[in-house]
Amino acid sequence: MDFSLTQEQTMIYEYGQSLSKTFDRSYWMENAEKHRFPEEMYAQIAADGFIGLMVPEAYGGSGLGMMDMLLFQEGIANEGIPLLSLVVGACMSMSVIGEYGTEEQKQTYLPAACKGDLRFCFAITEPDAGTNSIRISTLGKPSADGRFKLSGRKTYITDAAESDYALVVARTTPHTEVERKTDGFTLFIVDTRAPGIEMHPIPVSIALPEVQYQIFFDDVDLGPENVVGEVGRGFDILFQSLNPERILGGAVCTGIGRYAMKKAVEYANERVVFNAPIGAYQALQHPLARAKTDIEMAALLARKAAWLFDNDLPCGGEANMAKLAASEAGIKAVDASLQCFGGNGFTKEYGIFDLYPLVRLTKTAPINNEMIHNYIAEHVMGLPRSY
Ligand SMILES: Cc1cc2nc3c(=O)[nH]c(=O)nc-3n(C[C@H](O)[C@H](O)[C@H](O)COP(=O)(O)OP(=O)(O)OC[C@H]3O[C@@H](n4cnc5c(N)ncnc54)[C@H](O)[C@@H]3O)c2cc1C
Repeated sequence: MDFSLTQEQTMIYEYGQSLSKTFDRSYWMENAEKHRFPEEMYAQIAADGFIGLMVPEAYGGSGLGMMDMLLFQEGIANEGIPLLSLVVGACMSMSVIGEYGTEEQKQTYLPAACKGDLRFCFAITEPDAGTNSIRISTLGKPSADGRFKLSGRKTYITDAAESDYALVVARTTPHTEVERKTDGFTLFIVDTRAPGIEMHPIPVSIALPEVQYQIFFDDVDLGPENVVGEVGRGFDILFQSLNPERILGGAVCTGIGRYAMKKAVEYANERVVFNAPIGAYQALQHPLARAKTDIEMAALLARKAAWLFDNDLPCGGEANMAKLAASEAGIKAVDASLQCFGGNGFTKEYGIFDLYPLVRLTKTAPINNEMIHNYIAEHVMGLPRSY
């Protein structure tokens, strides 16, 4: 077993360090507080070839795998500059089109998306279905001429209005009419400016550069050219894209956790209130040491999941466990770091409390940790389904 990174992987992992020399945490935070997309940073990432990391070279990408995407996203999160739009766009949407799209779709969308000239969002969540994606009711109603009319609602869609296209998970057969509950799903590439689409921002109490939207589809006209993969068989593709999302959710948490701990160690080594730096107190050291251990364990699990994914081996168990471990470790790491800063931890100047909402978010989204526990209990351990 070899745990070392190749020279290229090391470069990918360390990319965040060079990016943050120009676009650092304060640049990210300034944009996050205004809910403004960091266009300049995104353009730089695109120019450096990282948006199309998982897109085949023939379509403008780098043709690399999940491990490389994980290293890239963990590396930028290590510097406190994560982008959710890279998870939903660069990974969940673009790599799906690269893998399952038609030749025409790949030529049309991918080279421009790799250059950063067009962006994708990913839309599955619905207000009435929530976690139970099987119950989504957004319907691409097929007509006799082979076209579809898309109607329904999606919610909490990251970066929707700022994106040019959405990869929309819809039903082409309602869940009440299918034989198997996973039948009848279809993935559509939808132009976000098409007639029949309305979007409303959802104000969320967390500083993020990406805005979340509710989207309404009212008889949006789609053709076979908008369908990714087979009509009615979209669930198989969806299933393939959920593991990467969990792996990258984990990467964001381990990275932010490391960033918080780096800041805490610097501070605790300098701050003296009695006779020694506060970092000498075991009461501060031990929670940090524990958090560091949990972060590195979660990161290892995420790498194993990414390796399995790249080798076409089942990775559902590892991807879910990595996301669970990373979200808990990230929260612990930020909390232990915050304690080191005393009152300063809650100020804008030190920016430590600001890290908390993002790591806490990952306990709920993209999938809540209760569902992750359910998956592990049922599919990894063989316990009965609980819901
Ligand atoms: C900032 C943000 C960005 C997002 N971005 C996107 C995006 O880009 N695209 C997209 O499609 N979606 C996105 N989402 C939606 C996100 O994936 C959902 O919010 C999440 O999956 C939870 O669904 P829900 O909010 O409907 O919660 P609900 O389904 O209402 O669940 C509420 C709570 O009930 C519990 N629960 C539910 N089911 C079970 C069960 N079976 N067993 C035990 N407990 C259970 C969990 O604790 C859960 O947190 C985003 C959400 C947020 C907040």
